[in-house]
Amino acid sequence: MSKLIIQSEKCIACGKCYLNYPQVFDCEDDGIAFVQEDATEQDQKMARSAIFDCPTRAIEEVDHTPSPSQ
Ligand code: SF4
Repeated sequence: MSKLIIQSEKCIACGKCYLNYPQVFDCEDDGIAFVQEDATEQDQKMARSAIFDCPTRAIEEVDHTPSPSQ
């Protein structure tokens, strides 16, 4: 499993990600983007190209495998 994250310190509030994929990304009042908590894994997969569209590469895909319970 993987999920998208945004390194907000790299975001320049260009708006590309949340204009192209509003089901996954949203922004704060200052335009800085974040990944919506309720974005499904399927939606995040469909929004993967946002990683390459972001001018500052602020969006990353990280491994999100839950650790086994002990
Ligand atoms: S595309 Fe990148 S720089 Fe533009 S709003 Fe989204 S995260 Fe920020």
